[in-house]
Amino acid sequence: MSSRPQATIHLANIAANWQALDRLNPGATTSGVIKADAYGLGAREVARRLAKAGCNTFFVAHVEEGVSVRRELGFGARIFVLNGPFPEDLRIYRDADLTPVISTPQQLMLWSRAPRAGCALHFDTGINRLGLSPGIVEKQAEALRKLQPLLIMSHLACADEPDNPMNAQQLKAFTQITKAFPDVPASLANSAGCYLGPAYAFDLTRPGIALYGGSLPPLGFALEPVVLLEASILSVFEGKAGETVGYGATHTLKQDTPLATVALGYADGIPRSGANALMSYLDAAPCPVLGRISMDLITIDVSKAQKAAKSGARVEFLGYNAKLEEQAARAGTLGYELLTGLGNRVKRIYP
Ligand SMILES: *Cc1c(COP(=O)(O)O)cnc(C)c1O
Repeated sequence: MSSRPQATIHLANIAANWQALDRLNPGATTSGVIKADAYGLGAREVARRLAKAGCNTFFVAHVEEGVSVRRELGFGARIFVLNGPFPEDLRIYRDADLTPVISTPQQLMLWSRAPRAGCALHFDTGINRLGLSPGIVEKQAEALRKLQPLLIMSHLACADEPDNPMNAQQLKAFTQITKAFPDVPASLANSAGCYLGPAYAFDLTRPGIALYGGSLPPLGFALEPVVLLEASILSVFEGKAGETVGYGATHTLKQDTPLATVALGYADGIPRSGANALMSYLDAAPCPVLGRISMDLITIDVSKAQKAAKSGARVEFLGYNAKLEEQAARAGTLGYELLTGLGNRVKRIYP
């Protein structure tokens, strides 16, 4: 047995979450966003499982990610590359049958000259991040249609705030764009967009984080947790009242306290902002993190789990008890950052 932290990744729950999102918007096709190695959980494993569940449209960020997913899935599934093509990538797009998402005038020009193959057109309707300006639709409508896009899309800036008026503004702007492409499937919603109601679903939804158990779904819609992150206890001991814990002595013990130190740290992707804030669970009993997060070590208060606190015992940092978004919030971050930050040293296990 090793002291390495381990992430058990429940692929069946990713499939269940995909199916739940698919049922939520029955009129739309549900794709799978598997960029950044499927948010740190293994793009090839996740792609294979989603394909088995019936998903046949995928989004990655980089062309290399697309190639890797294509190798895994074989030909057939549609793989969109969100960052779009560079001149030196054109052959890779062709050979791996990848579909670029065109978001800049340069990419538009490049793809117009490339051997005719499908693409998506991405319009920026207000996020001011990436996407063609909607003004181009009127000025170059014919040229755009000549590309025979397979998809037109845009991205919401504030979907995680259902009452933010920006959602309705972007919906309106995107709806206007779709009118110039009456026969082309359209896509606007990321995970949080899937919760905004059928008007936002269009023909294709693009959930990412929700597949992996993150986001804050509305009441009555539950996602399965996907990742169980566990660290091994190295040492169990008693800290005395008045003593401090960890670098910088940022936590002072109010009373004699049973403590345990586990093999997990910021080198594994646990944010230092989780000092004196994160919660771990031993035998389902809450064990607060005391003091700073070190590179390889974290000390926890095991008062509530004294029987189970033994060297070698596994402590949960993400899972059914340590819920992803709650844990992320304790460190002032989001589920996205916790998952994509999980380090290489964390052993991935696919049961
Ligand atoms: C990452 C991304 C998504 C998925 O977003 P989630 O919030 O993880 O669901 C969808 N669309 C685009 C354009 C993205 O960049």
